[in-house]
Amino acid sequence: MIIQLHDDCSTEHKALIRQNVEVLNYSANEVSTFHKNYLVCVGKSEFDIRNIGKLEGVEDVHRVTEANKLVSRQWKVKPTVIEFGNGIKIGEGNFVLMAGPCSIEGKEQVSSTLDFLSEHKIPFMRGGVYKPRSSPYSFRGLGMDGLKFWAPMARKAGKKIITEVMQVSQIEAMLEYVDVFQVGARNTQNFNLLDELGKVNKPVMLKRGMSTTLNEFLASAEYIFSNGNEQIILCERGIRTFENAYRNTLDLNSIPVLKDKTHLQVIVDPSHGIGLRKHVEPMALAGVMSGADGIIIEIHEEPEKAFSDADQTLSYKEAEKLVENARMTYELRGGLK
Ligand code: PEP
Ligand code: MN
Repeated sequence: MIIQLHDDCSTEHKALIRQNVEVLNYSANEVSTFHKNYLVCVGKSEFDIRNIGKLEGVEDVHRVTEANKLVSRQWKVKPTVIEFGNGIKIGEGNFVLMAGPCSIEGKEQVSSTLDFLSEHKIPFMRGGVYKPRSSPYSFRGLGMDGLKFWAPMARKAGKKIITEVMQVSQIEAMLEYVDVFQVGARNTQNFNLLDELGKVNKPVMLKRGMSTTLNEFLASAEYIFSNGNEQIILCERGIRTFENAYRNTLDLNSIPVLKDKTHLQVIVDPSHGIGLRKHVEPMALAGVMSGADGIIIEIHEEPEKAFSDADQTLSYKEAEKLVENARMTYELRGGLK
């Protein structure tokens, strides 16, 4: 059960609501987000929910049987909308596009990417400055130095930045430069990191871990929400299976199922999802058809020379075609019966 409290619910009223919940053998967990105050109640007994709704200080009450409560669609039927100002938003029929290199490499690369994004009206630039790499000898990113030259260039071009944060200690320094924090697949269940990102008033895009079930994935989102941050986007980026003909298995089944289970926006990353340049576009379009709210792709002026993930990175020409077709596919989806 989720109880939404009035903004001016007094301490006395809150205590009384708690008592009423606890006699039902429910635990009442208080959650205060940047947006609202809730009591997230966990228990099993049956009772008349209206008796809670009548209590002083209660704005609304919802029965939520799913384990992941705050991210569940059972209480919030309308999808979450994330506003970025200047007409940029995720949700409400805005098909979101995010594109950029796997890693930020230098100013020239940033500038050429921004030109491409502007030309194609793509609002978000992706790029890693802290890179999780399988080998410690691979390029691991420019760190804060990269973010410091990238952010002002992106702002000047009117673009929003999405970049990965790998550990708690990086959050504070990154905060003023970042528009969306990305949690990478290797950190989907880093609960300390999720706790801390819950305390930040900036959107977080949570990628699916390579072996997380959808319930585990949603539980990770619940960590962020229950710590105070409601601005969460989920990203399907493929899971690890027995198949090794491609980098990951892009689990597009997850898109309609997640959209059914949660009010959060769900986007798809076909670049990591298949890992093979020539197949990124069809998988992006399949992702759109499966109900994704947007896509995130890796692009580079000279993909073969990209410092990381070259094999899955698209040239501008390939990306242009993908973006046009993705927009058309989105329109087509909207018109389907
Ligand atoms: C990335 O976006 O470059 C990345 C490392 O993604 P993932 O965490 O999905 O592997
Ligand atoms: Mn990458």
